[in-house]
Amino acid sequence: MVTAMLPPGLSDWREAPRVRVMNNRQLASDGRYVLCWLQQALRARDNPVIDAAVRLGNALGVPVLVYHGVREDYPYASDRLHQFILGASRDLGIGCRERGLACVQHVDREGHREKGLVYRLGADAAALVVEDQPTFVARWQVDRVAARIAVPVYAVNAACLVPPAVLGENVGSRSAFLRRHEPARADWTDSQDETTDLIPFDGALPFTPDRLDEIDLDALVAGLTIDHSLPVSPAFPAGRAAAEARLLRLAQEVLPTYATARNDAMRPEGASGLSAYLHFGVLGPREVMQAVNTASAGAKHTTKFADELLGWREWFHYQARALKAPETYDRVAAWARNTLADHANDPRPDAEDLSALLRGETRDETWNACQRQFVRFGWMHNNLRMYWAKRLIAMTPDPETAWATACYLNDRLSLDGRDPSTYGNIAAMFGGAPGDRDRPVYGRVATRSDGSTRSRDGGAEWLAKAASRPVPEITIPADLPRDRYLANPTRGVANG
Ligand SMILES: Cc1cc2nc3c(=O)[nH]c(=O)nc-3n(C[C@H](O)[C@H](O)[C@H](O)COP(=O)(O)OP(=O)(O)OC[C@H]3O[C@@H](n4cnc5c(N)ncnc54)[C@H](O)[C@@H]3O)c2cc1C
Repeated sequence: MVTAMLPPGLSDWREAPRVRVMNNRQLASDGRYVLCWLQQALRARDNPVIDAAVRLGNALGVPVLVYHGVREDYPYASDRLHQFILGASRDLGIGCRERGLACVQHVDREGHREKGLVYRLGADAAALVVEDQPTFVARWQVDRVAARIAVPVYAVNAACLVPPAVLGENVGSRSAFLRRHEPARADWTDSQDETTDLIPFDGALPFTPDRLDEIDLDALVAGLTIDHSLPVSPAFPAGRAAAEARLLRLAQEVLPTYATARNDAMRPEGASGLSAYLHFGVLGPREVMQAVNTASAGAKHTTKFADELLGWREWFHYQARALKAPETYDRVAAWARNTLADHANDPRPDAEDLSALLRGETRDETWNACQRQFVRFGWMHNNLRMYWAKRLIAMTPDPETAWATACYLNDRLSLDGRDPSTYGNIAAMFGGAPGDRDRPVYGRVATRSDGSTRSRDGGAEWLAKAASRPVPEITIPADLPRDRYLANPTRGVANG
């Protein structure tokens, strides 16, 4: 059990509830810097992870070294994900240097391998400040490093407007969560803590960093051993400028009609398209809410947007934080798993193989329209995602495979995948409010029709066109990575 207290600089910080002490190590008195290791919060400003590192560094009288590295072997590494991450990282580096912060980056590749860089950089550090992410690689890596490294590790929440810790533990329903979350929002929207007083870093490094602002990122990505069959998204350019352009568009064009336009899958421009930038922390929720609060849009629109960004997104972050393995099937409500299990042997005439699913070549035109949006753009409209996830229950051989397939497709293809919202939303589609009667295959799990799009003016034509849009020939894996998404005793993770 971790019992250590917050160190100087953080214990009296207004944003201290964002910080979690990850191990019981002592601050290294001979540490040359505070190492700030970023994985997903890839922004230079309004970044609580960097702010925490700077405050700690200043309290200890040492500078901060910001580090971001990318390897080729994380699950689903592809041109799409790598390019988006590297574009964000490039701008992180530029932004840090503008602030006077040292930021070093490493892209691991043939001829440029660096083993255990976090540990090697950590060997000279007084402490390690990381981000507190409840899912995927960012979570696994921080847990592992905190257990092995010799210095104290402080994990800082940068993904949420309201730090989950201020809401207390064991909040079991979204309505109870909102009762605590809504009154806290104003406090955290206004607070900004950016220390400008920086101690310069001028130390030697145990490796030669990559200068991402001086490298041709396309050529770099093309030379990596990753999945090249999944191309860069033509709709979501990487980097801070693209994120800022989307934020401006939100305030000026999207918000004034958001509450109604957001539900129309035929008008994807009615939604903000911010989820990928939020997932990789190119934008933080605080700056999004500041833009929303100063935009000229009616209350019903801003309230609806806040409900999505804060009421739903942060609820899923809160839930994931309490789960040992937010991505596994055992998080789905027990009643839903039971009723699906009761129907696991029902005939499944709509079942499709993985190849047809991945390429959007099934017998269900609407489903293909949804899937091809994912494959082509790395994003899917919210309404389509609901139909897409529900239908997978009938299009796969059993409920566990349905869960693993939904998570796999979402994680591999979507820029915003691998997120607490991925698994939280899919769990809501598999569980959520029960349906009105017991049906084949679904049992009491509610089904969803494609009526909300098909019955609109031009809806049928739009779906037919979307279902036949050309998509890249992505590779089909020999096997679905089921183990990643099913309670896995060998990994020692399951939700209690
Ligand atoms: C089956 C399924 C899977 C999903 N998988 C993901 C995922 O992997 N990653 C992801 O970020 N979202 C996911 N969502 C939620 C939602 O569909 C996307 O966040 C949204 O479509 C992103 O588009 P946008 O940024 O234009 O959204 P907007 O409508 O503009 O919403 C603004 C922001 O609010 C948040 N948001 C909106 N809707 C939701 C929601 N239902 N739950 C949580 N946050 C929400 C997102 O951060 C989004 O960027 C999923 C929903 C479903 C039903």
